[in-house]
Amino acid sequence: MENCIFCKIINQEIPSYKIYEDEDVYAFLDIGQATPGHTLLIPKTHVTDIFSYDHALAEKTFARLPKIARAIEAAFPEIEGLNIVNNNKELAYQTVFHSHVHLIPRYTKEDDFSMHFGNHIGQQTTEELTEMAEKIAKQVK
Ligand code: 5GP
Ligand code: ZN
Repeated sequence: MENCIFCKIINQEIPSYKIYEDEDVYAFLDIGQATPGHTLLIPKTHVTDIFSYDHALAEKTFARLPKIARAIEAAFPEIEGLNIVNNNKELAYQTVFHSHVHLIPRYTKEDDFSMHFGNHIGQQTTEELTEMAEKIAKQVK
């Protein structure tokens, strides 16, 4: 897609630190290394976010994650963990609107990467949770 920075990276119009490429995906270092080895995996097909994938594209793209994760682990045996993050839409911190998955190696608790999951256990009734699950379940297609 025109004017998409990640499409330009795939097409070699702008440089990147490539890690892996095949007919379906491209993986490269994030320009802003949240932690050393921070990698982005993108589908070669331009889709904006998770809501735009069809089954086949999702299968091709997300199936590559373990391969890249294992490569990062093998390259940095000292890593103690790996966060896989996918931001969708501006509110959810997406800044580049060609869908991508972050693989962020974790070294220590002080490696300057964190995720906060607010703890709201017990704040909904059983009925509210049942209703919520049913509401979503009905939409699964
Ligand atoms: P988002 O905030 O959309 O989840 O993540 C976008 C990521 O793309 C950011 O972590 C940012 O550092 C990275 N990024 C933005 N522009 C470029 C670029 O031109 N090259 C590379 N390699 N990464 C980029
Ligand atoms: Zn694109």
